[in-house]
Amino acid sequence: MTSPDALRPLRRPTVSVDIGGVLVGSGHPVVVQSMTNTDTADPDATAIQVARLAHAGSQLVRVTVNTEQAAAAVPPMIARLRDNLGVDVPVIGDFHYNGHKLLVEYPSMAAALAKYRINPGNVGTKHHDVNFQTIVRAAVEHDKPVRIGVNWGSLDQQLLTELMEANARLAEPRDARDVMIEAMIESAMRSAELAEETGLRHDRIILSAKVSGVRDLVDTYRLLARRSDYPLHLGLTEAGMAMKGIVASTAGLAILLNEGIGDTIRVSLTPEPGAGRELEVEVAQQVLQSMGLRSFLPQVSACPGCGRTTSTFFQEMARDITEHIKTRMPAWRETHPGVEELKVAVMGCVVNGPGESKHADIGISLPGTFEAPVAPVFVDGKLDRTLRGDGIVAEFIGILEDYVDRRYGTREGALA
Ligand code: SF4
Repeated sequence: MTSPDALRPLRRPTVSVDIGGVLVGSGHPVVVQSMTNTDTADPDATAIQVARLAHAGSQLVRVTVNTEQAAAAVPPMIARLRDNLGVDVPVIGDFHYNGHKLLVEYPSMAAALAKYRINPGNVGTKHHDVNFQTIVRAAVEHDKPVRIGVNWGSLDQQLLTELMEANARLAEPRDARDVMIEAMIESAMRSAELAEETGLRHDRIILSAKVSGVRDLVDTYRLLARRSDYPLHLGLTEAGMAMKGIVASTAGLAILLNEGIGDTIRVSLTPEPGAGRELEVEVAQQVLQSMGLRSFLPQVSACPGCGRTTSTFFQEMARDITEHIKTRMPAWRETHPGVEELKVAVMGCVVNGPGESKHADIGISLPGTFEAPVAPVFVDGKLDRTLRGDGIVAEFIGILEDYVDRRYGTREGALA
């Protein structure tokens, strides 16, 4: 029988880049990252949001460094994060237009950050290479990795024009989309070459080439993956809000991750006004867990329900079990290592209920319309008992708690 590990996508071989102790690439687990949307010049607000993202599971958090005030606020913000909030997540600086100035004029900021993101399309046209090399020299001096992050919304126009003109001279010019993709890849690769010529080590470079269309993303990263062994930061840029952003990001990430492409991911969701940023971290984790690449949270399988589940009881139970697991997870993570691999099933009727429940570690098959009012519970694939009456949800949660203690509990957890 094929082992589950054999079914996991084979990762594209890359070098490994150390970002403040978090290893990216070279077969290390795909790293989840995110970005703040607070004003970095406000160190309290930014430290709190970085901490929230880290608590949600973001292993790297990026902040924009766009002004002198923001640059000056980075060291105190990171100090508050470490000393007051007890969070040690590496913080990355995002630079556009004036990074070459800020990184030189604010050396304590340059030293406090764990990585710099450079957009080669936003380092100026007249002194493009000089400005780019100034940022790279800061990275070399402070011993930091960089991400060369190309974005089609700010693609190096000089390079694009050069490639468009060369294309126009061809007997059979290629599609403009293909030239745009080539320009993205060329921008990333030429920048990486210049960074290495300037003294940055090969294993200090991560690449990204983000676009906002799913098929463009897939084609761009497939080509980029063939061109080098730099680790790739993967994400759909400007993914959008809510359902659209989640589905589009998932579609793009899933195709590439399944081909072993992508070493760190970000889901660029536009939050609802006033909402936090944690949803983008949850979506990134769920994509990786659904792909079988990493485990973060026990998974609850539930059928969609149909004409056999005419009451809302089944939906309420699936929601209650999901919520119970989410609430218990912070404590379980400490006391019950491995619980994130747990699989639970909450099913609506006899048609698929017993079968799906047997595939889970623990599952319940509720009675559908016209079935006897009993709910068989399956544990490790075997019928364990049958529940009935008004207390089914509470009883099932009790069985679930016992199972988690028995299978994943540690001595420390049991004594706590
Ligand atoms: S398991 Fe039963 S209730 Fe659920 S969708 Fe299938 S037939 Fe409907």
